[in-house]
Amino acid sequence: MSSFNQQSFQLNGKVALITGGASGLGQNYSKALSLYGADIFVVSNSQRGWEETRQAVEGNGQKIGFLQHDITEPGCADEIIAQCVKEMGGLDILVNNAGIQIRNDVLAFKDEDWDKVINLNLNALYHMSQAAAKYMAKQKHGKIINIGSMQSYRAGKFIFPYTAAKHGVLGLTKAYADALSKYNIQVNGLAPGYILTDMTKALAEDPVRGPEIKEHIPSGEWGRPEQLMGPMVFLASPASDYVTGVMLPVDGGYLLR
Ligand code: NDP
Repeated sequence: MSSFNQQSFQLNGKVALITGGASGLGQNYSKALSLYGADIFVVSNSQRGWEETRQAVEGNGQKIGFLQHDITEPGCADEIIAQCVKEMGGLDILVNNAGIQIRNDVLAFKDEDWDKVINLNLNALYHMSQAAAKYMAKQKHGKIINIGSMQSYRAGKFIFPYTAAKHGVLGLTKAYADALSKYNIQVNGLAPGYILTDMTKALAEDPVRGPEIKEHIPSGEWGRPEQLMGPMVFLASPASDYVTGVMLPVDGGYLLR
C-alpha cells in the first residue's frame, strides 16, 4: 500500500472464510466484512442463522458460500480450505471464530468436556490456520484473525479449559505472526470482553454476577456485538498491514482493572 486513504479499509475482491460465521458473534463478522466488500464463506456446525446471514451478505452486494461441517473432525481442514477456494475463487482472510465454553466446578469437570473445549477452541483453530497458511503462503498474502477472549489474558476458574484454550490461541497468534511474516501473512486476534449474546445472557441477568461485572467494566456497560465489527474490519483490511501478533481486547477496559 503506497498511501493511506478511504480505500485502505476496503475489502473488495477479497474472500473471507469465517468459522461459525452464520450465528452468534460470527454473524456480525460476516456482516461487517461483506459491508466493506468481502465475499464470505461460512463453515458452521448447523444451519443456525444461515438464512439471515445470507440475506445480510447478499444485501451488502456480496457473494456468500456455506459449508455445514464439524471443524473438529480430524483431517478436515485441508478439504474445507480447498472447498472455499473452489467455490469462492480464493482465500484472503481466515476468521477463526467458532468456539464453545463449558462451565463447571473444578473437581467436577469431566475429561470429555476438557477434550471438547480444547478440540474446538484450540486444535481446530490450529488445523484451520495451518491449512489456510499453506494456501496463503503461495499467494504471498493473507490475514488470519483468531477470536480469543479476555480469558486469553486472565483466569476463569469455572471455565479453566476455556482459559487454557484461549491462552493457547494467544500464544499461537504470536508465534504464527512471527513465522508467517515472511509470506506477508498477518496473524492477529480479537479478545472480546463481556458481550451481550445468547451465551452470556444468563450471566448478565444473574442478580449477583450481572451487577458485579458491570461495576468492573470502566465504561460501565456490557459490550454490544456490533462493537466488534469495526475492530474486525480493521484487522482484515490493508489498513492493518503493519500490525501482526496482536490480540486486541474489545472489552470496554475490563482488562485494565
Ligand atoms: P455461539 O455459541 O453463539 O457461537 C459459536 C459458533 O461456533 C456458532 O456459529 C457455531 O455454529 C460454531 N461452532 C460450534 N461448534 C462448531 C464445530 N464443531 N464446527 C464448526 N462450527 C462450530 O458463541 P459466540 O458467538 O458468543 O462466540 C463466538 C466466539 O467468540 C467464540 O470463540 C467465543 O469463545 C468468543 N467469545 C465470545 C464472547 C461473548 O461474550 N459472547 C466473549 C469472548 C469471546 P452453530 O451455530 O452452527 O452451532
